[in-house]
This record gives sequence, C-alpha cells and structure tokens, in this order.
Amino acid sequence: MLRKKRVVIALGGNALGNTLPEQMAAVKITSRAIVDLIEEGCEVVVVHGNGPQVGMVNNAMIALTHEDPEQPNTPLSVCVAMSQAYIGYDLQNALREELLNRGITDIPVATMITQIRVDADDPAFQNPSKPIGKFVTKEAADELARKYDYIMKEDAGRGWRRVVASPKPVEVIEIGTIRTMVDSGDLVIACGGGGIPVIHQGNHLKGASAVIDKDFASCLLAKELDADFLIILTAVEKVAIRYGKPDEEWLDELSVAEAERYIGEGHFAPGSMLPKVQAAVDFASSKEGRQALITLLEKAKDGILGKTGTRIHM
Ligand code: ADP
Ligand code: MG
Repeated sequence: MLRKKRVVIALGGNALGNTLPEQMAAVKITSRAIVDLIEEGCEVVVVHGNGPQVGMVNNAMIALTHEDPEQPNTPLSVCVAMSQAYIGYDLQNALREELLNRGITDIPVATMITQIRVDADDPAFQNPSKPIGKFVTKEAADELARKYDYIMKEDAGRGWRRVVASPKPVEVIEIGTIRTMVDSGDLVIACGGGGIPVIHQGNHLKGASAVIDKDFASCLLAKELDADFLIILTAVEKVAIRYGKPDEEWLDELSVAEAERYIGEGHFAPGSMLPKVQAAVDFASSKEGRQALITLLEKAKDGILGKTGTRIHM
C-alpha cells in the first residue's frame, strides 16, 4: 500500500477567531478544511497558534489577581498551557463532529498538552518580539505599558499589541507519545500555541515567560515526525514580495535560495510572515522531498492539490 502523505498543519489566528463565540464558530470551518485533507488521503497532525487567546487568558488572570490579592500572578507559561487546553478542546470537539458527519468513524481525535524546551540563553529573552492579545490604539498601548510594564509595539500597520519573548523551540518533550499516537492513526493536536516553553533544570522543567511562534514549533514537529508537508494556513492566499506596495507580487513558488534572498531584502514582516517563510525554508531544506506550503485556511485542499498557495521547495 502507498504510504499516506504525512502533513503537519499550522493554524493561524484566523482559524480560531478572537473571542469564545468566534472560536466556537471558526473551528467548524477549520475542521472542514482539515477533514478535506484527510479525505484527500493525508495523515494530518495539527498545530495552532494562540496569540489572541493567550493574551485573553493573561488578562483574565491579571483581573483575578486584582479581585483576590491572595491569588499570585499567573506565569505566562501557565497561560500558554491554559490556552492549549481551551483551544484543543474546541478543535478536537469540532474535528470529531466533522469526521462523524462524513462517516469517518475510525480516526480518534486527541489533544496533547505539549511542553517545548527552549534555551535559557536564547537572545529572544532580551528582545521581546512576539505580539499577543488584542490590537489597541496608541493611547491604550501607552496606558497598558504604564500600568502593567508591558512592552507594546506596532504590528504590521494593524495597531498596537503587547510583545513577549519568543525563543526558538529546541526539543518537543512529549514527542515519543505524539509519535506513537500519530503512527497508530490518531488525529493529534499538539504543540498548541507553539508549545509550553520550558527550560531544563536537572530533572525539572521550569516554565519560561515566553510564547514560542507556532510557525517554528510546527516546523520542529514536522521534522521530528518525518512529515512530507508543512502547511501553514493563514490569512493570505500567497506570500508576496514588496507586500502592500503598488508593485507587490504574489508568489506561486519559492525555492529555498530565493526565499533566503527575499528574507535578506526584508520582504517579510517580522512576527507575521517572516517566521512562516523561515519555518518553510527550514523544513524544505531539512531533507530531500520535503515541501512547505503557505496559503489560506479555506484553500488548504486546493493547496495540497497544487492549485494555489506559495510552495517552498529545495
Ligand atoms: P497567523 O495568525 O496566521 O500567524 P500573522 O498575522 O502572524 O498570521 O501573519 C500573516 C500576515 O502577514 C498576513 O495576513 C499579512 O498581513 C502579513 N504579511 C506581512 N508580510 C507579508 C508578505 N510579504 N506577504 C504576505 N503577507 C504578509
Ligand atoms: Mg503569526
């Protein structure tokens, strides 16, 4: 029998929405796109982001501390864990339903709470760059910076957001369990929100105050699972050069060498498109035959069929 194509999917913010009701509705559409790929014969593993959700959980936990001074502040690593469970619950519920609606009864769905080791000396800890939470105005950003010591930055022309450290993922702690589940045919949601960032302290794993970019986490997971495809589903159908300029150009294909040149020329915004292209390049150049695809969530199936998206290859 032909081996199924193993596909790691990274879901962006638009796959999940910004509020509880939005997420409940969004995961239904997201599940359709994912089950489409399963019906195309792919073996799918799901990774998702958590920018808005981890911001929301963090704000909720700050509100708790204000209301009840006996509750100490909640570490960001715990907020990431909470966001993994909350998003995983909605996703696994919607995926199960979509599979059953299509008469697929032999694929169990489960979320793996995943820790990812990061390097305590990662320079990212000295230079917070990852936007989380809501977009706010400049005035609201100044207020948050004053009140909570948040570092606020302007995000790709779309408003101001809190930024936190985003170190590179080094090791998926639960990889053995994830591999066993995937090998036995389960539909697994893992490394949610980029994984819970932890630092080795002997046998202890200490939570780090950071949010790992899900684009890099999904790349690491895809390599560890020896996937054929890394598909990054986001809010644009293709990657552009000269993005937002009058002469912008949408790309169907991108070789690793071209991508590296465009990265050097600054075509991709840090914190949004840059990590996706970097993750795609890392994956596509890691082994013969591996490819990455960046496209719209709704176009996942057309993308795997080669009809759209930006394909990154050696
Ligand atoms: P996600 O939640 O899926 O990770 P992001 O907002 O982080 O989404 O990144 C996707 C966004 O990157 C696009 O919606 C677009 O606004 C922005 N972007 C920045 N540079 C580019 C580029 N060169 N080509 C396409 N999109 C770009
Ligand atoms: Mg992003």
